[in-house]
Amino acid sequence: MWPLELVREGQHVMTVCNACRYCEQYCPVFPAMERRLTFTAQDLGYLASLCHNCGECLYACQYAPPHEFGINVPRTLAAIRLRSYEEYCWPRALGGSFRRNGVVAALALAAALIAFMFLAAWLGGGRLFAPNPQGDFYAVVPHAAMVALFGAVGLFVAAAIAIGVNRFWRDVQHDGRSSPGSGDVARGLRDALTLRHLHGSGPDCTSNEEERSPWRRLFHHATFYGFLLCFASTTVAAIYHSVFGWHAPYPYTSIPVLLGTAGGTGLVIGPAGLLALRRRRDPALTAPDYGGLDESFIVLLLLTSITGLALLVLRDSGLMGALLVVHLGFVLALFLTLPYGKFVHGFYRTAALVKHAIEGRGTV
Ligand code: SF4
Ligand code: SF4
Repeated sequence: MWPLELVREGQHVMTVCNACRYCEQYCPVFPAMERRLTFTAQDLGYLASLCHNCGECLYACQYAPPHEFGINVPRTLAAIRLRSYEEYCWPRALGGSFRRNGVVAALALAAALIAFMFLAAWLGGGRLFAPNPQGDFYAVVPHAAMVALFGAVGLFVAAAIAIGVNRFWRDVQHDGRSSPGSGDVARGLRDALTLRHLHGSGPDCTSNEEERSPWRRLFHHATFYGFLLCFASTTVAAIYHSVFGWHAPYPYTSIPVLLGTAGGTGLVIGPAGLLALRRRRDPALTAPDYGGLDESFIVLLLLTSITGLALLVLRDSGLMGALLVVHLGFVLALFLTLPYGKFVHGFYRTAALVKHAIEGRGTV
């Protein structure tokens, strides 16, 4: 299923790098590459998930364009990495949906879901535009309808991601090396959660040639931990509702609202910062055909958080009903696209780091 041209390019680049080895201290890609003499498509998918696209090895490379070898590791691995989302996703038919016009497709999906939910809420007698001084979300969309819709979508997304990760892991382990132990998993998780390798050979990350800043790492952290806090907020709210019978809306000082506010703020700062950085990044580092795939996830994340925070601030106003439907539409679109874009990189990268830990047992 992997495009032959892309595999050949990956093999060419890795074969030259394997002979040169100048960049072997930069990141786990190079030690992992050095353990191989030939590179299958599966090997390339593994190496691509180890790459952070920092750019360090491009700026150091004596064989980079215009040299006739044309070595550009970050761009080649970015193209393979983005292609791997399509290779491993389930169902595969949806894999290419966001490849080219990713942002437009994601926004069109959100708009369609918002229109559908407006219609459903209106037909169901939801108080879309009526004053709602108690900020009662369930007067707009009944609790049972929310649970049924988001429960079904959540199960689908969890199954799709689990199948994708399983396919990725099966390919990564195709060499039949030993299974991961608890130490390998702990080391992989530590490296993933701390973004240990993002800043290459310096304290900060390269963003362009001769330019270093901590922002890419910080915005990544804000996005990831903001997402976790929002997830924790939803989980606590679900426990409040189903175990204790305490129904939303919760006070501004309650645990779900505090977690959601902190998480939502992180999810505005992180994605907005990453989008701004993308505009400034050296275009030589990115895979030209796949730009929308990365951006569609970041844009939906940003719109989901902005509408979520606006909903929190305006929940007692007459705008609450319409805002709730718009927010839920963006959340649904975000959930439905999670298995087909940048989000899965977190899982594949962690799995690749666990594999790297297995291969590097005995090293730091
Ligand atoms: S990126 Fe260039 S300098 Fe670095 S190992 Fe590969 S060929 Fe050598
Ligand atoms: S771009 Fe950075 S992370 Fe990717 S292979 Fe080069 S040095 Fe490693």
